[in-house]
Amino acid sequence: MANAGDGDVIDIRGGLIAGPLRPVTDPEETTEWEQVSPRHIDAADWERFETYVSEIFGAFGMDLDTPGTRETPNRFLKAMFDATSGYEGDEKLLTAFPNESDESEYNQVVEGGISFYALCEHHALPFHGSAYLGYIPNERIIGLSKLTRLVRLFARRFTVQEWMGRSIADALFDLMEPHGVAVYLEAEHLCTQMRGVREEHSRTVTTFWRGTYEENADLRREFLDLARSSTHK
Ligand SMILES: [Zn+2]
Repeated sequence: MANAGDGDVIDIRGGLIAGPLRPVTDPEETTEWEQVSPRHIDAADWERFETYVSEIFGAFGMDLDTPGTRETPNRFLKAMFDATSGYEGDEKLLTAFPNESDESEYNQVVEGGISFYALCEHHALPFHGSAYLGYIPNERIIGLSKLTRLVRLFARRFTVQEWMGRSIADALFDLMEPHGVAVYLEAEHLCTQMRGVREEHSRTVTTFWRGTYEENADLRREFLDLARSSTHK
């Protein structure tokens, strides 16, 4: 595990804390889901997968014998592999740090929109959109760059919007022990749009509430107003 002495551990661009208050990695803050588990696909498997993809793309009509397409099966697999890197975890994900301010319980922090690209588990086609995260700090606040990492950790998988939002909300709640967590996701699903099942550019919106937000409708409304006003500028 990296420590604060490394100098490159924590990226606070866009975060809430200015440079001098640079947070320090505390081993006690490390939680299980920060552990990384790289996926290893051995060369023989990779080659076999390429032949499968070539066969499928060829059968569907692609001419695989052109300069532009010869490497397509390989590139396709690599792109899919990268798009699902969330399964590996993110060791730089989260370093929570003390909340220096002494605000009231209902002073929420709202961050977003954080763009994301995910693959729907039903079709393995992309859904993409923006995430807005809100929380009411207890003792810790967290920078935008870490929240972005959190969103991408759960987006870069085969998933559904519902599950992705729930995972983000639960992770944020576990990590920061805030009074409440709110997650707003809006996304366009290519699996329906590309095939003309639904109107183009239709968006699916999902919200998730934890803690104080579950009980307080005003707080939810305020969060949604903040999220929506930044969405539809
Ligand atoms: Zn789908």
